Amino acid sequence: MPDKILICQNCKNTFVYSDYEQNLDKRNQKSEPVYCPICASIKASEQKHPPKPKK
Ligand SMILES: [Zn+2]
Repeated sequence: MPDKILICQNCKNTFVYSDYEQNLDKRNQKSEPVYCPICASIKASEQKHPPKPKK
């Protein structure tokens, strides 16, 4: 499978969805990512540590 160039839904930057990642996600029955690795890691850490509500 050739590498794919995807556009991040958050920052609109392009990122590479590599052959390796495509195979990995296919095996895990995951769909292709909508966020670049940077935004994905930010979103993952936000889920772990949700921003505190302002007082
Ligand atoms: Zn992004």
